[in-house]
Amino acid sequence: MKNTKGKIKVTLIILLVLLSVFLIFLSALLIRTYTFSAAGNQDRSSFDTVVAGFAANFSKTERTRLLDNLKGALRIPTVNRGATDFDSSSLEEFGNFLPKVFPTVFSSNLVQHEIIANYSHLFTVRGSNDSLQPYMLIAHLDVVPALEEEWDVPPFSAEERDGYLYGRGAMDDKASLMGILQALEFLLKRGYKPCRSFYIGIGHDEEVGGNNGARNIATVLQSRGIKLSFLLDEGSFILSGIVPGLNKNAAIIATSEKGFATISLSVSVDTGHSSMPPKETSIGILAAAVSKLEKNPMPRMFGQGPERGLFEHLSPQLRFPLNMVMANLWLFSPIVSRMMEKKPSTNSLVRTTTAVTEFYAGIKIKAIRVFYAPCPGLITAVSKSRDRKCYKYKLGLCIANTDTRHYLKLTKQLYRFIPMILKQEDLTRIHGVNERISIKNYEEIVEFYFRLLQNSDLSSLPPSHISSCNL
Ligand SMILES: [Zn+2]
Repeated sequence: MKNTKGKIKVTLIILLVLLSVFLIFLSALLIRTYTFSAAGNQDRSSFDTVVAGFAANFSKTERTRLLDNLKGALRIPTVNRGATDFDSSSLEEFGNFLPKVFPTVFSSNLVQHEIIANYSHLFTVRGSNDSLQPYMLIAHLDVVPALEEEWDVPPFSAEERDGYLYGRGAMDDKASLMGILQALEFLLKRGYKPCRSFYIGIGHDEEVGGNNGARNIATVLQSRGIKLSFLLDEGSFILSGIVPGLNKNAAIIATSEKGFATISLSVSVDTGHSSMPPKETSIGILAAAVSKLEKNPMPRMFGQGPERGLFEHLSPQLRFPLNMVMANLWLFSPIVSRMMEKKPSTNSLVRTTTAVTEFYAGIKIKAIRVFYAPCPGLITAVSKSRDRKCYKYKLGLCIANTDTRHYLKLTKQLYRFIPMILKQEDLTRIHGVNERISIKNYEEIVEFYFRLLQNSDLSSLPPSHISSCNL
């Protein structure tokens, strides 16, 4: 009897110890969860000092003009199919179109315009204070092809429907290109004189690698000994309803992008007549290789790049228990990454992806090409905000490639962001069918650049909140 009582006592003590350990563990998770909340809320105060000189307040005429100008840009089919397969007359037409719609930019004595590599554009806008390091905004004028029969409206008609403007390039990347120049046009018209010099680079072959446009623009700037304080390119968006468990919009600034590698695998075997085939044909060997590639994805690396900071910073905005999960990725990242790898769109955030893109067969040498999009390294930059009453900006990873990679020698402060609102249904429109932008959102984009140009004149930029990323 005594023995049984003793056993119960020991079991109870063990249970109590286990419960205490569990409670301590749970408290640690909760403390971390709500520490992130506090850090997240500090962000806004950093930007109180940012004040724009000229208010945007676009007039009705200006709103009509900015929309007409974007329509004009969308109607020029600047399609790029390959380094040597592009429509040069459209690229030239686009070059002739710009001075027509931005006459103030092209006639201002503060602005120097150069054509680079025949079709790309470099604008140098001279600031009054030489001691301030210049910055650069970049965009591209070329677009990917569009099959008219798949679209609801002709892809180069710039048709307006239900508050949206449809057209190839509406999202990638003419809204950004036109938005930047439109903002500068409006500012110069209002008598704006920048303090800090800046550059605007418009590449003509981003969709096929940017090796003529962006690369040559960067080379020109390098040859002039230019170093930039920061560079802003396309690459990420304001995500609306895309992040699971997040009801608010999230403005994501990509500070890193995935790289890529193309690898060819080829098999050469002794030829023979198909009536007397070898035991293993070259097609069979290659097919086995493809199957192996698909069955053996690269390891999960979720939580080791900038995506970790992104999810941790979003955690205060998420519902319980998702906020606890995201604030404690040190513990939960294996579970989160297993869930994310189920969808192709989120799988690309988890690992280096592999895609077999070409298969040559039926000739003497059989070959396949494999495209790898590797995961990038660590977070490299800090985020900035345009307006404390608007979105809180988060750092993220761009899963596509941009022209930014050609500018790496000019600055380490690389940001990829357009304040374009992207919903789940829009994800397939980029490089897909029925690409469109809402007219209201385009006005906001022009306003964003209008503010950004002025805010960049501040002699000291708001302090970084990188430390709160590293909690
Ligand atoms: Zn693009």
